[in-house]
Amino acid sequence: MSKKILLSGIQPSGRPHLGNYFGAMKQYIDLQNEYESYIFIADLHALTSLQDGKTLREASLDLALDYLAIGLDPKKVTIFKQSDVPQVTELAWIFNCITTMPYLMRAHAFKDAEAKNKEINVGKFTYPLLMAADILIHDADIVPVGQDQKQHVEYTRDTAEKCNRIFGTTFKLPEPLILEHVKTVPGIDGEKMSKSYGNHIPLFAEDEELRKLVMSIVTDSKGGVPENVRAIHELFRTKDYLDKLYSEKEGKYKDLKDALLADIIAFVTPLRARRAELAKDLPAVMKILEEGGKKANTHAEMRMQEVRKAVGLTL
Ligand code: ATP
Ligand code: MG
Repeated sequence: MSKKILLSGIQPSGRPHLGNYFGAMKQYIDLQNEYESYIFIADLHALTSLQDGKTLREASLDLALDYLAIGLDPKKVTIFKQSDVPQVTELAWIFNCITTMPYLMRAHAFKDAEAKNKEINVGKFTYPLLMAADILIHDADIVPVGQDQKQHVEYTRDTAEKCNRIFGTTFKLPEPLILEHVKTVPGIDGEKMSKSYGNHIPLFAEDEELRKLVMSIVTDSKGGVPENVRAIHELFRTKDYLDKLYSEKEGKYKDLKDALLADIIAFVTPLRARRAELAKDLPAVMKILEEGGKKANTHAEMRMQEVRKAVGLTL
């Protein structure tokens, strides 16, 4: 029996952080033997928040290095740049045409983004449909994501059903894979940790930067337990261990932050070393992306041929 398909991606909209890693990326590694995996660099999505060619190029290559450094094996996983599969923009257009505005306006992520910025761009608005295209074009069975993307995967399922109903396409309905115990990792300000909010702790930061960030975690809390510190600490230690530590050190925020910092550093040190090794041979990284892009493109094109026929674009 052929393996089920896993697909997921991260936007090169900044440096990946602890939330990205524990919410999503770790699962890519844990599941790479079990599934036929497609992991991509969501550069088209990143354009909704990052509009500087040089920075996007650098961030995309950086993210490829990050993927490899955390242990994605290009022999097992197709690693590619989203824009190497431009068919997704074609499919997203078809989805645009069968989706109503009120439906998209109900998306939590859109509402949050709109609350932060009234001049929100159309790309952010239709973000869920490009995501649906990524997932559906590759026939993904499962999509490992963080809690914040749960609704978007539901939108993908709705869109698949709607397209199948209207045009008779045969899109599969994907399942999200969300680690309930990770939920949404808070940033240093207590809001959802996000690359684009500037409240994140990058996975590959150096010790000094990590120290500054951990020390600046907002500790406005009840009962002597700095909740934001503890929520991040839970990614690294068991509940029992933390219950003991946080009761012994109740109210001693500096000590608790020091303990968290030590755990983060111990965790990222080997990953950073691996990344530095990989960064010595960028042409090899480019080659992995090129090959992954070709494979993903071929896979997507097969699906698009069926779609073009179904909607009436092929004569
Ligand atoms: P941006 O601010 O540009 O949206 P982001 O930090 O939200 O960046 P994405 O690239 O949008 O990161 O998301 C990549 C993956 O990481 C998704 O699966 C998303 O659900 C997950 N993720 C993002 N932030 C968190 C978080 N704070 N906790 C858990 N998972 C997260
Ligand atoms: Mg996001």
